[in-house]
Amino acid sequence: MLMLKNSSLFRQQCYINGIWSDADGGETIQVINPATQEVLGLVPKMGSAEARQAIEGADAAWKAWRNKSAKERSNILRRWFELIIENSDDLARIMTAEQGKPLSESKGEIAYGASYLEWYAEEGKRVYGDTIPAPSRDKRIVVTKEPIGVCAAITPWNFPSSMITRKVGAALAAGCPIVVKPASQTPYSALALAVLSEEAGVPTGVFSVITGSASAIGGEMTSNDLVRKVSFTGSTEVGRLLMQQSAGTIKKVSMELGGNAPFIVFEDADLDAAVEGAMASKYRNTGQTCVCTNRFYVHDRVYDEFCQKLVNAVGKLKVGNGFDDGVTQGPLIDQAAVNKVEEHVADALTKGGRILAGGKPHALGLSFFEPTVIADATAEMKVAYEETFGPLAPVFRFHSDEEVIDQANDTEFGLAAYFYSRDIGRVWRVSEALEYGMVGINTGIISNEAAPFGGVKQSGLGREGSHYGLDDYLVVKYLCMGGI
Ligand code: ADP
Repeated sequence: MLMLKNSSLFRQQCYINGIWSDADGGETIQVINPATQEVLGLVPKMGSAEARQAIEGADAAWKAWRNKSAKERSNILRRWFELIIENSDDLARIMTAEQGKPLSESKGEIAYGASYLEWYAEEGKRVYGDTIPAPSRDKRIVVTKEPIGVCAAITPWNFPSSMITRKVGAALAAGCPIVVKPASQTPYSALALAVLSEEAGVPTGVFSVITGSASAIGGEMTSNDLVRKVSFTGSTEVGRLLMQQSAGTIKKVSMELGGNAPFIVFEDADLDAAVEGAMASKYRNTGQTCVCTNRFYVHDRVYDEFCQKLVNAVGKLKVGNGFDDGVTQGPLIDQAAVNKVEEHVADALTKGGRILAGGKPHALGLSFFEPTVIADATAEMKVAYEETFGPLAPVFRFHSDEEVIDQANDTEFGLAAYFYSRDIGRVWRVSEALEYGMVGINTGIISNEAAPFGGVKQSGLGREGSHYGLDDYLVVKYLCMGGI
């Protein structure tokens, strides 16, 4: 059983309008620890009726929340942030148990997730308006920003806590209530956040967490007239569906979708730094992040040396249960995830790929997979155009800047890209040529609360984090004053 200092953080009920509730018919979903396949517990299997209740409660809470001063909202968000930090050991344990990532990564995510609440507690005080010189003498133009209204969020299992705080911090700071449906694989991190929100004094209905049927809850969230904005992080396929469903009531949508990140190593790169960045970008969360490198492009002149250094670094990874000391690679989330990595490996091998490390399910069984490196990757392989979402690094060879930029951009995705070079002219040229929302230059880690996270093309719409992230929860109002 999961040992916690504060056992009240482990809740098996939903938090709707300030009430801890079960599904009407008592139906439940099992939550499994992917490292052991043990049942961790149950959560309610709710549907559209309960989603409607949560949305109506949010609407009822909206007026009082928006009428608070920014500073009053800030104090509550700040208190919530502090409680998360105080309870970070327990929150990390809950995350590792349901998601599988190593405990050190879970601790990192809790701190990272909390940083969004801290950031927006401050940034919410700076929702400035505008005055615009009017074209006629008797008029004045004033622009104010107001909360968009009731928001709904659907979040994924790969970052069970921070994908929630990143949305909720901005929504609450802007003056919006929000209903969240976490992924069914990882609901306990979300419910623990709700426990602490209650303690922090987030008013009833301003933040609700509902677990259950994705299609029923998502259907209600996207069709209910009271919801003004839907924010989603997950696959492009589901994002497309939610956008279609939201069209009926013309909701604003924010979409953080799939990626197919290229990682380019130019011939002038610091190779040791590039390998360090490659390891962080590829193998963090066992390759299950939307900004994980999917394709390595390495210049012909440094190809063999880079591959050798990468293989050496991969050899130091330790696969196992995220609770065990020294483990750096947890299990994949489920068997379907393993099947996809296996399929990509098999496809690469039939098309001339060469395994330099790993290549098969790990001896530990279950959903553990060996950290894998495949050389001689080509554009015909699935790894070139599909997101693997696992610990597989295919390494492509290139000869010129033009060639590699074309290849890097040859995808319908445009979330994150990375490259290593020490030539300042090339750094500018390549940064400008890459069709991506985020570019890591001489670094494999780009996410933080102060920067705008988001993609272009089919990787999504909108930005999270930074002051741009707040704009996504605000609407502009223009006041025209006449007769002056
Ligand atoms: P992944 O492939 O990473 O699991 P998904 O897009 O399937 O990503 O899931 C991300 C989130 O979207 C989860 O909370 C999941 O429950 C939810 N989801 C999946 N299908 C639907 C749907 N039809 N409507 C609404 N939400 C959905």
